[in-house]
Amino acid sequence: MIAPARTDSFRVTIIHPCVGRRAGMKRYIRTWQMEPIPAAMVAALVPDDVEKRFYDDRLEPIPYDEPTDLVAISVETYTARRAYQIASEYRRRGVPVVMGGFHATLCPEEVSRYCESLVTGEAEQTLPEVIDDYRHGRPKKTYCAGDRPALICTPDRSIFRGKRYLGIRLVEFARGCRFKCDFCAITSFFNATQTHRPIDRVLEELQRVRRRHQMVFFIDDNIVSDLQAAKELMRALIPLKLRWVSQASINVAYDEEALELMRRSGCQGVLVGFESLNSESLAAMNKGFNLMGGGPANALANFRRFGIRIYGTFIFGYDADTSETINTTVRFAQDEGLFIAAFNHITPFPGTPLEKRLRAQGRLRFDAWWLDDEYRYNMVPFHPAKMSPQALEDHCVKARRQFYAWRSIISRGGHRVNRNTAFMLFNFLAINAMHQWDIEGRNGLPLGDESFRGHLLEAG
Ligand code: SF4
Repeated sequence: MIAPARTDSFRVTIIHPCVGRRAGMKRYIRTWQMEPIPAAMVAALVPDDVEKRFYDDRLEPIPYDEPTDLVAISVETYTARRAYQIASEYRRRGVPVVMGGFHATLCPEEVSRYCESLVTGEAEQTLPEVIDDYRHGRPKKTYCAGDRPALICTPDRSIFRGKRYLGIRLVEFARGCRFKCDFCAITSFFNATQTHRPIDRVLEELQRVRRRHQMVFFIDDNIVSDLQAAKELMRALIPLKLRWVSQASINVAYDEEALELMRRSGCQGVLVGFESLNSESLAAMNKGFNLMGGGPANALANFRRFGIRIYGTFIFGYDADTSETINTTVRFAQDEGLFIAAFNHITPFPGTPLEKRLRAQGRLRFDAWWLDDEYRYNMVPFHPAKMSPQALEDHCVKARRQFYAWRSIISRGGHRVNRNTAFMLFNFLAINAMHQWDIEGRNGLPLGDESFRGHLLEAG
């Protein structure tokens, strides 16, 4: 039974779920402990006369018995199972739960089974209405955002006080991406569009929240999806003398003006989704543009000329991929001196063309891998064409171990771009050591909390 509505001092509890936890696990994956900006955006949308609390499931226990009138959880595919466990705890106590986020939009029927209200699309448009409806006892089952909202909301970071996050400041400029990579849940969610926050708001926020020498991470899905908008931001950043990092598509490597602006505005490095060195795989993922300008080696040389370090991400499991594809890629990442790199199997996120194709071909090993009792983090949830799921999983783990072995770290640290300032050399060593440490911790991590008892409570 759900508690009756109250309009006096209404209380909202915001929860950021973890991916999963082994029974008795003492230390959560450290590289995954960044400030959860979506939770701070939700907090900013809570009206001033509503009491708000925030618990980060990665860092602290959730006090389920603390009185509250509504629980808000943003759900991603990897955190869905844990989100449903948390929701079940609250709903058993009669507290209504509202869920939103990527997974809620891409899998609305599933998510709506585990909450009282579902929010699809971007929360800016709907969350104030949800809270108002709950306060006045007239909640609806579904709230759908229509067009993309103007990004005028600034995250409420007061909810992070006293929590031990990684020492990097997260700020948003742009949301979404114009490209249509077939595995990408982001572009499916935003329908290949991008919106931007007004630059003066970004500057105001930066000046207020940055600390001396602190790195700023623009969490944009692709900061250069709209190159003109990105250049405008970078020009405005120059006087701030920031050090920043972000995520960028490879096309920026061939725009000298953009590279110069990146350097002058304090860009220290970007994550680039190289994905594959194999042209057939790139074509299959609709990312043939990664071969523009002669290919990734040329792009990397251009980035290096401007002192920009690279976090390269690679994915494997497209039909053309073999074990040799993976070995060649690791050698490339090492030889090119990438600052850090990720080697992952492709993941069929719901709602993406990749997932639809594998499902139509009967190649998915689980109906919904993110909910399956047997599924563990890093397990390959589909049948690759040229190797077994286990072989692909093993190759990915081996690739990470090779890339983060001390021999490789020292060799990559010798590349001028990674050691040209004491600050970045220190960061290089610290970040690589942290990634090395986390390889085994992530491997085989259950989705959801292993010590959760009972069953997931579904809406009646
Ligand atoms: S470039 Fe990156 S963010 Fe954009 S669609 Fe491709 S994978 Fe997604």
